[in-house]
This record gives sequence, C-alpha cells and structure tokens, in this order.
Amino acid sequence: MYLVYIDGSGSVKNPNEKYFILGGVSVFERQIFHLIKHVDEFVESLDLGPPEDVELHASVIANGREKPWKGVPRKERLQIVENALEIVRQSHGSVSLFAIAVHKAQRAPNDPVEYAFEEICNRFNLQLKRIYNRAEKKEEGKHRGLVVMDKSNYESALQSLARTFRVQGTRWGELRNLAEVPLFVDSQASRIIQIADLVAWAVRRRYEYQDTRYFDKIVSRFDSEGGVLHGLVHFGPNDENCHCPACLSRAIRDAAIQ
Ligand SMILES: [Zn+2]
Repeated sequence: MYLVYIDGSGSVKNPNEKYFILGGVSVFERQIFHLIKHVDEFVESLDLGPPEDVELHASVIANGREKPWKGVPRKERLQIVENALEIVRQSHGSVSLFAIAVHKAQRAPNDPVEYAFEEICNRFNLQLKRIYNRAEKKEEGKHRGLVVMDKSNYESALQSLARTFRVQGTRWGELRNLAEVPLFVDSQASRIIQIADLVAWAVRRRYEYQDTRYFDKIVSRFDSEGGVLHGLVHFGPNDENCHCPACLSRAIRDAAIQ
C-alpha cells in the first residue's frame, strides 16, 4: 500500500493571497517508519525541547512568533525549513511528492481546496496505475492508496467530497486504486503530515512570491516518469506564459502529442 499525506498552504479567503496550494508526500508502507525516523532525528538535533512538542509547521517556523521558535533568529529558522526539505530530497527512491498550485481567482467560483484535492487524488491514483503497469500488471505491483490529511483543516468538507468521488467518479475517471475515504490525523502527531505542510509551503513561496529557494530543494522529487512531471500541477492565470517546471513539462508533452 502507498499512503499520500496531504496538507495545504495559503488562505482560501484572504484576497491578498493569489494562490492556494495542496502538497502531498506519497510513501510506500515499508518506508513510513524510516522517513519518520529521519525527521524525528532531525527535530531532536535542533535541541528545542522535547521532540514530540516540536511541530514542523513551515509558516509558524517562518514567522517565529510562537514557542519553540520564538527567539531563534530568522536566518536560522529559515535554514531549519530548508534542512527539513533536504531530508525529503534525500529520502528513499519510492518517496515522491505532489503539489497542486491553484490561482484562486482564475478558478473562481470553484472552491480551490476541492479543486486541488480532486486533482491530487487523481494524480495519486494515476501514480498507482503506472506502478502497476510498470510491474507488467503482476499482482505484486498492485497497490491500493490511502489519503491521509490533517484533521484540523478540512475534515468534514473533504470527507464527503471523497465519498462522492468514489460513488460518481471524477472528471478523469474513477479513483479505483484508492482504498478508502481520507484518513484524518492530528498533524502534531504525524511527522509526514508536517513534511506535506513544508512541501506545500515551499511551493507557495515559489508561486506566490517567486521565491525558489525551498522549491528548488525538492523539485527533483515530484512524481515523474520518463522526464514528464506528473506530480506538480500549476493552474495559473490563462494569460500568463509560465515557464515553471510544471507548465514547461506540460508544453513539451503536448508538443510531442501533436
Ligand atoms: Zn506554471
């Protein structure tokens, strides 16, 4: 089984923010333990108090107003975010990332969270399909997928949405490989949800502020195959000629089809 841990970055309601981002970390069941261990060891090395009390929540680390980040110089705090993303960059080959960047105004009146959620579920489902195809449709290549999300953020709306998806299928077909409705967990207790938060934040820095420092760290780990980037999707304004990795990959693929 593969699990995709999903978390969001950006405010849906704040008109000063253009983007809403959902980030995801897809992990094969046997790698979950190792990834958590690496992150736990990293948090312990920060020496900021009991590791179980230290949550890696990117926006909280960046603004430094709350414990245990209060008093840590900004430069150090941002380096901590970058170092945490380095763990992702160096993680096992079966770990892969997803992110959906939705320009809110462009997709209105669609809800950007629902829009991004539907897209990320589809991308994850397609990843499982590709893994199965790569294994030449043998039983050992057949994996179900489970979506894991942060309890506090989207529980009720997305849970019912996911249920509807499974009954009616989505715009791209049915999510046959997904095992269940999303599993909701407490982000404070889940290190991999925290990693998904860091990924979403890094992607938002890229699209909202053109700050590529964190994004560049992880861009090589988005789900991809044969040079085609499947894991990163940018729904930007239609009038924008975008050269981000997601749009470039799509343009190259479309040119190859024609
Ligand atoms: Zn783009």
